[in-house]
Amino acid sequence: SGSINVGELAEKLNKETNEIIKKLMFLGVMATKNQDLDTDAIELICGEYGVEVEQEIEIDKTDLATYIEEDDQKKLKERPPVVTIMGHVDHGKTTLLDSIRNTKVTEGEAGGITQHIGAYQVEANGKKVTFLDTPGHAAFTSMRSRGAQVTDIAILVVAADDGVMPQTIEAINHAKAAEVPIIVAVNKIDKEGANPDRVMQELTEHELIPEDWGGETIFVQLSALKGEGIDDLLEMILLVAEVEELKANPNRLANGTVIDAQLDKGRGSVASLLVQNGTLKVGDPIVVGNTFGRVRAMVNDLGKRVKSVGPSTPVEITGLNDVPLAGDRFVVFKDEKTARQIGEMRQQKELEVKRGDKAKVSLEDLFERI
Ligand code: GDP
Ligand code: MG
Repeated sequence: SGSINVGELAEKLNKETNEIIKKLMFLGVMATKNQDLDTDAIELICGEYGVEVEQEIEIDKTDLATYIEEDDQKKLKERPPVVTIMGHVDHGKTTLLDSIRNTKVTEGEAGGITQHIGAYQVEANGKKVTFLDTPGHAAFTSMRSRGAQVTDIAILVVAADDGVMPQTIEAINHAKAAEVPIIVAVNKIDKEGANPDRVMQELTEHELIPEDWGGETIFVQLSALKGEGIDDLLEMILLVAEVEELKANPNRLANGTVIDAQLDKGRGSVASLLVQNGTLKVGDPIVVGNTFGRVRAMVNDLGKRVKSVGPSTPVEITGLNDVPLAGDRFVVFKDEKTARQIGEMRQQKELEVKRGDKAKVSLEDLFERI
């Protein structure tokens, strides 16, 4: 990005290239005219001439965040919450996801063949809720390590017959680190030996204190297996969402995060995206991670072809020239040329990083050789 080679530095300093090379040599570095110098080496040479180096604030043109303009507050509209289900193994995460989906999604849907695209939406009290279908841990660990924050609300599933377990605590820590509100779902209350009170007691040690006990955490008791308490849970999710004032601007070019992607024999690169802001449309020029293209077709979580989707909506797209990674950001651009340029720049940068970058003369090198 901000690199400058020996020849360019000489030009800036109004000196002969050979003179700079000699100075570097004096410092113990054999450099050629086209060799890149890092900031420290540049400062050192400039110091020799009593020239101060102006630190330019560089815009990283390969960073997709650079292209996301901030929204005018007035343009923001309410958007559905994006929910992740977390908890210890076997406490009922998958059962709960299926239960919510089965009781809510297929209602009135002809055919009702749902697609697994990494997330799905349900409707409760006339409002939508988006559930991430990926294991909660992945949503918080691998995605967050890539800088993506997709979750608005975490549901912590704790089996009432088992109580707080290691992965329960891990889940709490992830949600806290991400500053995401937690709703506790005390599951398996239908089971013999279920003891919801014990779960609540144990969770107080992790600062999750029920409202009845003077705390602020919402607890919902349910049986994911029998579909009991699902409506209560959805109601509580909507309540928390309202408090959080989740908003987005549907009237802008879309951006968001990849939740899943793979290569399909027939369709090529297939990526599940979560639109986090704006509206994504078929035909949109798009950069996704280090790949780009034009949105060729979109399929929603019900397997239906759609032409456009708004904020907090998961959708599967085709049309990319390569397969992105879960957690990658995507940004839509006005024209295909720009998308291509930025996509190619990002590909190039990725290649350079992979190659271990070109050899640069660093300050460390200078001192090593003195
Ligand atoms: P996960 O590992 O957290 O995804 O847990 P699963 O959803 O796979 O559930 C583990 C086991 O607990 C399965 O055998 C489920 O049928 C069972 N299970 C899940 N929820 C309930 C429930 O509410 N009541 C009872 N009795 N069993 C449940
Ligand atoms: Mg599971």
